[in-house]
Amino acid sequence: MKKIKALKCKECGQESPPIAKHVCEFCFGPLEVVYDYEWISSVISKEKIASRPHNLWRYWELLPVEGQQVLSLNEGFTPFWKSRNLGKFLGLKNLYIKNDAVNPTFSFKDRVVSVALTRSRELGFDVVACASTGNLAGAVAAYGAVGCFKTFVFIPADLEMGKVVGAGVYDPIIVGIKGNYDEVNRLCAEVADIFHWAFVNVNIRPYYAEGSKTLGFEVAEQLGWRAPDHVVVPVASGSLLTKIYKGMSEFHQLGLIPELHTKISAAQAQGCAPVVTAIKEHSEIIKPVIPKTIAKSIAIGNPADGYYAVKTVEKTHGVGEWATDEEIIEGIRLLAKTEGVFTETAGGTTIAVLKKLKESGKIASDETVVAFITGNGFKTQESVQDHISKPYIIEPRLNEFRELYESLVKSKQVEEHNFLKNPAYQIK
Ligand SMILES: *Cc1c(COP(=O)(O)O)cnc(C)c1O
Ligand SMILES: [Zn+2]
Repeated sequence: MKKIKALKCKECGQESPPIAKHVCEFCFGPLEVVYDYEWISSVISKEKIASRPHNLWRYWELLPVEGQQVLSLNEGFTPFWKSRNLGKFLGLKNLYIKNDAVNPTFSFKDRVVSVALTRSRELGFDVVACASTGNLAGAVAAYGAVGCFKTFVFIPADLEMGKVVGAGVYDPIIVGIKGNYDEVNRLCAEVADIFHWAFVNVNIRPYYAEGSKTLGFEVAEQLGWRAPDHVVVPVASGSLLTKIYKGMSEFHQLGLIPELHTKISAAQAQGCAPVVTAIKEHSEIIKPVIPKTIAKSIAIGNPADGYYAVKTVEKTHGVGEWATDEEIIEGIRLLAKTEGVFTETAGGTTIAVLKKLKESGKIASDETVVAFITGNGFKTQESVQDHISKPYIIEPRLNEFRELYESLVKSKQVEEHNFLKNPAYQIK
């Protein structure tokens, strides 16, 4: 019995066999996996899922692979908690943090890659590749190494050091392109046509994208089998946003959660906001932009799933908002100081946008809200290094420390450095 029935065009509905392919032969629309939901609903249950190991393969029935031999590094089922301080600071009574920065290679990309490479192996590939804004490179390199694939990663040549090292350590072949992500992606589409490799986000994309649904599944499960009222999602290609909603919709259709009324809101950097711009302008047309932002992991100027992301936001009555680079840095610092999570620029964008949506009244104080933190701050240290506490350098002598301490007391820095203790910090 096969759980994957076909690949189906999202535009004209034409079906084709579930091979390595991502565009419709008839209309060039994107392809999506069609499952045998009848079979799935006959075998899936909350109890069965809950009894399985804490990684994303607990949702095996709803993932686009046929076999039980999965390529996993224990990705997924990441920490999820009710906000300790950030909610209070922003005036949100039911704010939750989903921390996907602690996956095996420190971003949510481990989800999509675990699924994509498992499927690539089923389809018989021995070379895997990707076009990456940074995090995908690390994930493909790690899973490619463990899965004994030959691995090629294509990145913009000016990527942050942490991202290049974070991929290089697994010994893939790294190709740095003198250009932005959109140029890397265009080249990869050409390479994928000629070299018959599994490009996870090109010809394997229909399977790859399904991995992102697991963030929707997990949040619903971790909330006690219910959907949140509102979520804020960082957007690059738009795939993650659309698939979080698809995941929750599947749970609802299968009767695993009672209702679904979740608003899906999109967060982008102002310097690369083609999706948010379209939402704000009530337009279905995504105008490509040339990215100019510190949020490189989400800097896609011509997003492949941008149109579907706009549709999802509109359909669910969510909103689109952007954040400037300064606001992104503030967002990173705020999350660190309130929740103890050091996120990268994409997470800073989520937090900055969350704050703006609360301030503008687009998120109400009693809504159950989830902020998706998708990447780790240790990979993008250069973006914050000039904006955070630095060491006071002294000689190893008690006197020196005493002098320093007295000067800090005198300038009120000891009293005021913890802003949550500052009287100016009040519950709004
Ligand atoms: C890739 C990425 C995203 C967004 O992914 P898309 O599915 O392309 O929209 C968000 N956050 C981080 C940290 C990423 O690496
Ligand atoms: Zn079609």
